[in-house]
Amino acid sequence: MTWIYAVERAVKNNVPKVEAILKEHPYLLDLAMKVREGKTEVLRNLDRYVEETIKSVEKSGGRAHLVSNAEEAKEIVSKIVGTGKTIVLGKSMVAYEAGLRKHLEAMGNDVWETDLGEFLIQLADEPPSHIIAPSLHMTKERAEEVMRKIDNELNNSTHEKIAMTARKFLRDKFIKAHVGITGANAVAADTGSVILVENEGNIRMTTVLPEVHIAVAGLEKILPNLQLALYEALVQAAFGGLYPPSYVNVSSGPSSTADIEMKRVSPAHGPREFHLVLLDNGRREAAKDPVLWESLLCVRCGRCHLHCPVYRVFGGKWGVPPYSGPMGAMWSAVVYRDFGPAQLCVHSGGCREVCPMKIDIPKVLEELKKRGLKQ
Ligand code: SF4
Repeated sequence: MTWIYAVERAVKNNVPKVEAILKEHPYLLDLAMKVREGKTEVLRNLDRYVEETIKSVEKSGGRAHLVSNAEEAKEIVSKIVGTGKTIVLGKSMVAYEAGLRKHLEAMGNDVWETDLGEFLIQLADEPPSHIIAPSLHMTKERAEEVMRKIDNELNNSTHEKIAMTARKFLRDKFIKAHVGITGANAVAADTGSVILVENEGNIRMTTVLPEVHIAVAGLEKILPNLQLALYEALVQAAFGGLYPPSYVNVSSGPSSTADIEMKRVSPAHGPREFHLVLLDNGRREAAKDPVLWESLLCVRCGRCHLHCPVYRVFGGKWGVPPYSGPMGAMWSAVVYRDFGPAQLCVHSGGCREVCPMKIDIPKVLEELKKRGLKQ
């Protein structure tokens, strides 16, 4: 029953907001179509763009690692991190997909999610229920109950008080962190830059304070150039209902300075090392699939979830975590080869109407239903 209250509150807060944003800033619809074109171009020539991205990252002084699956991702990240470290994580679905947090904890590291929703999920030891609001299934009352693990005096708290409790606890972790791990909203092939859009400020600190920044991204996050990569971040923020975003971060290699004789040297105040881990895990195969390829256009705005009657009943239980809702039913097939979630689709079509990438989600799910039944 708690889920029904939580999702209805989220729908009420989010749906009119996105509509108002798009009305006020109509250029966002144009940007969305440019992003769709850019992503389509990359998916049609994926190997070439992956190669270009790797070269660009190395050129900017970073290290790029192409990995085939979750095991390889864990292996390379473990090698970079080592043991006995404090690690701060910026919300990353790919890190969840690869099981990075639990793996690094098992290796003897002190690992903390720093996005408020992910932090609640970590404290509660529950899977996320939405791609941009992972603790969407928690009411304020439940969030307070979970947060009592770090402050047992919390009682009858406001939203602000719960956020402040997390802020106080995590500030110390940011300062102590040896390594910051983030995902990526987009990766620019021409510059090797990783773009991250956020509101909390946790990503900014995760990417700048520790000595090492590791960005973990799926291959589909590549866009041909920095301009389109920045557009993707703006589109994601707007269709997620958070526009303008508080922060847009661009990380191109380790920190650097050109303040002495204009000669650019590294590091400066930020990280000494920058790593980009590019994860395949079924994406290359999906890019060649005549129907499934469209799912790779997703910018993870989470809008389709709130317009879907099935998600509004089942929430994060529909799909394989961290992928839920209509996009999650597609993505469960892309990365886990699980056609089960698609079977629940009732073809209301709301998802297709609101998707900024104009993905024909019902068509993809219809095909996945057929494949699931054959299987
Ligand atoms: S499928 Fe479309 S609406 Fe759903 S999360 Fe992805 S981009 Fe957003």
